[in-house]
Amino acid sequence: MTALACLLLAAGAGVLGLVVGVLLGRRRAGGTARRGDGRNIPTLAELLQRVFRSSGAGLAVLTETGDVVLRNPRAADLGVVHDGRPDARAWAACQQVLQTGSPQEVDLSPLEYRGRQPAAVLAHVRPLGDGFTVVEAADTSDAVRLEATRRDFVANVSHELKTPVGAVGLLAEAVLDAADDPAEVHRFATKILQESTRLGALVTELIALSRLTGAERLPELAAVEVDEVVSEALARCRISAESAGIEITVDEPSGLEVDGDRTLLVTALSNLVENAIAYSPREASVSVTRRRSGDMIEIAVTDRGIGIAPEHQKRVFERFFRVDPARSRATGGTGLGLAIVKHVLANHGGEVRLWSSPGTGSTFTMRLPMRGAGTETDAQSGSAERARPAELPDRVG
Ligand code: ADP
Repeated sequence: MTALACLLLAAGAGVLGLVVGVLLGRRRAGGTARRGDGRNIPTLAELLQRVFRSSGAGLAVLTETGDVVLRNPRAADLGVVHDGRPDARAWAACQQVLQTGSPQEVDLSPLEYRGRQPAAVLAHVRPLGDGFTVVEAADTSDAVRLEATRRDFVANVSHELKTPVGAVGLLAEAVLDAADDPAEVHRFATKILQESTRLGALVTELIALSRLTGAERLPELAAVEVDEVVSEALARCRISAESAGIEITVDEPSGLEVDGDRTLLVTALSNLVENAIAYSPREASVSVTRRRSGDMIEIAVTDRGIGIAPEHQKRVFERFFRVDPARSRATGGTGLGLAIVKHVLANHGGEVRLWSSPGTGSTFTMRLPMRGAGTETDAQSGSAERARPAELPDRVG
């Protein structure tokens, strides 16, 4: 028996039972067997080779002198083998594995950009006995990207929390120093209150966002009246509107309904209205309108404020992205408001759209499936499930 046949048999030990079960009684060892319909029954070696070739992992078997005796197409895609030779890092790992007899992990991420190759590749090297080793590589780009996103998010949250916490400490010292001056104590204490309100808002929004991005089960959706969402959101924003001298105009009640979570929808709409107020000059006008468009309900918030440049329009939905961080801080913004809006809408099977022009103003439109929309199709397909949340292409700013 050749070394290759030995290898194939060793590598296929796990599937042997299954294959033998399928073929039991239908073929004799060494002979060419046929099914009743005349088609050839593949040999065990052929089947094992098919398993090897079709694997999603990049597989290569190396001899003790570094020759590649067996490899699948994916091994080249993942850079385990270049022009028939093993990657230098993979070969170094194989030598160590031969010396120690223990499996090893090796990072085979490309050192330079090579077109279609994945950004991150991780391989496991195992001894196969008799001086052979197998390198099994997988594309880990998604996991690496996710980890980078998580790291960025933690860094951003820490930074956002550090600023108000530091300010509270300094202000408390200032209060102690000014203990004999009631006016100063009042001034510093007011600032402490502002900073702690800001901290509270940040923590509340972080909790809301973690809930919306799947850390907790969302409540069941129920019938929600759009007019109630609008009037509750406006009531929440009344004080900020009054203090900015902004009058909010609203269209006539619509009687429209959506399937949703009322509290989340009110939060999303009030975030949009609060922004419209915060990013408009004093006494500018803001309007809220609602309408039906096909099977969708649209609630639009329009302002005549500073507007958003085209290059920033996608990014404003990222967590902590602000066009002008100083202005956002001055208005008490957390940088999370629009990320929350985006996730609320996605969890309702809807979306948020933005039209904006710097110097002219912005319109943010919440689009939600109308109550009952799609039930006919669902009934036909035998599924009464509500629309699944849309894919969340979330990036962390
Ligand atoms: P913030 O707490 O900073 O307002 P958001 O997530 O609500 O955070 O908004 C992100 C950024 O988008 C804001 O900092 C601001 O630069 C921009 N933005 C949001 N709404 C508007 C608006 N209506 N007009 C102009 N810019 C806006």
